[in-house]
Amino acid sequence: MATITDSLAASGRSLRPSIGAVALSVLVVLFVVLTANRTFWAKTALYFGGTPQALAIFALGLVALLLAVCIALSMRFVAKPLFIVLLLASACASWFMDRFGVVINVDMIRNAAETTHAEAGNLITPDFVWHIVLFGIVPSLLVAWVRVTHRPFLAKARFNSVFVLPLLLVAVLAASTQMRLLITTSRTHHDWLASLNPIGPIVSAVRYAASTEGEANIVVEPLGQDAHVAAPAGRKPKVVVVVAGETARAQNVSLGGYGRPTTPELATRDVTYFPDTTSCGTATAVSLPCMFSIYTRATYTHRKGLSTESLLDVLAHAGIAAEWWDNNTGDKGVADRVAYRFLPDSADPRFCTDGECKDGILLDRLGPWLDGVTRDSVLVIHQLGSHGPAYYERYPDAYRRFTPDCRTAEFADCSREEIVNAYDNTIAYTDHVLATVIDMLKSHQDRFDASMIYMSDHGESLGENGLYLHGAPYMIAPKEQTQVPFVLWLGRQDRAAVNGACLRQRAGEPASHDNLFHTVLGLMAVETRIYDPSLDVLSGCRNASSS
Ligand SMILES: [Zn+2]
Repeated sequence: MATITDSLAASGRSLRPSIGAVALSVLVVLFVVLTANRTFWAKTALYFGGTPQALAIFALGLVALLLAVCIALSMRFVAKPLFIVLLLASACASWFMDRFGVVINVDMIRNAAETTHAEAGNLITPDFVWHIVLFGIVPSLLVAWVRVTHRPFLAKARFNSVFVLPLLLVAVLAASTQMRLLITTSRTHHDWLASLNPIGPIVSAVRYAASTEGEANIVVEPLGQDAHVAAPAGRKPKVVVVVAGETARAQNVSLGGYGRPTTPELATRDVTYFPDTTSCGTATAVSLPCMFSIYTRATYTHRKGLSTESLLDVLAHAGIAAEWWDNNTGDKGVADRVAYRFLPDSADPRFCTDGECKDGILLDRLGPWLDGVTRDSVLVIHQLGSHGPAYYERYPDAYRRFTPDCRTAEFADCSREEIVNAYDNTIAYTDHVLATVIDMLKSHQDRFDASMIYMSDHGESLGENGLYLHGAPYMIAPKEQTQVPFVLWLGRQDRAAVNGACLRQRAGEPASHDNLFHTVLGLMAVETRIYDPSLDVLSGCRNASSS
């Protein structure tokens, strides 16, 4: 009996073809790249601007990279489950991408996870089932069925590295010849890498799972509930306008010594400039919540930022009218509990096209707001500033000072000089916006005392070492991405309260986003246990008599 089952099992095994782990990796990668990525290849061809050579180099590099990863992971007990997950995910995602043109990003996964069964049922048509069977289930069954021959561990490591190292080399060489194209394309077209199947959908699913896991039950902890304004009764209202900048880097600000006149208007406004100021992050989503949180760069985390009240909440606790105007991509949760205006929603044709507005809209709205101020107020203006890569869309023609300027978001079509010219024009326009805010505050000085703080959220790479845009991991980020302009303008009252020489000396010392929270509290004369004078850039320079 036992011998019969043994021989049956043996003959059954012998019917199964055997294949090497490397060969199976090659088959799976080619199958997925060729059958499940119609949308991805169409987008790549379109975004690369129809250069077959660039497309071929990119395809070669990408396939080499995917092969290297799959071969490296093609170990016993890992290879088969991994390949089956890749095949099934690809078949499923390619159906929706190629058929419906959807990008399977985090929002799409969230939609899918929160959809009703009835809605989901409508999607499961006979065509869908056939597609999954043909491109997902049949190849998965084949993978499960075949016998994969594995070498002993050390021999396998040696054998695989013969393939993996040259493949990685090919991928690195391909990427290095197209660095600018790759960076521009991925930044300009957020849908591009997200449609690489199945990597994009799997990354989105993991990010979605991580975000719901971490953020679902966050309760915002109150902060500074003891805050109050320490000021003599009957004094004029106090106003601080905080301009949260976007993508301005310190290197291109003439107040800080840049060779071109990018900040001529601020130069005549008696401002204090802090030339050595560092940002908290290299992207808006990190820097913005960090700037307005009580945490310093050393202690800040995304979760802490979300789970603790912000500077605006503390101001509100002190009875100050706190308000946020956004001309960018939102306040990242900083202003959840205070008055909020999202200016692109206005679609004001004088300033806005395609859902984005030039920062002039902020000046247009500021006049009426200032006329209405009756009590202590802090207004945050989140500008669009120098947001790339379409720098040329940030400034009106009157601020087209440095020419020729790059007039497209495709950096590959512009020289570096044209890109820098366009970027410098954005700084010059921000200079005009800030100088105009100062002039408007000055013209209201009979009614209230006002000051302005401007800090950019992070810098920008403009081709140094082949890098463009921003978002590099902070540890390795170039200083172009982390050195930001910080401008302080004090109105009549605040100026009288500080020692000018002391302030000039303080401005020469390092500053950072860590200083914003406490400097605003200091300017608004807010007293609270959480105020840290050592982080208020003015505290060491206040005259003894002032409060
Ligand atoms: Zn930003």
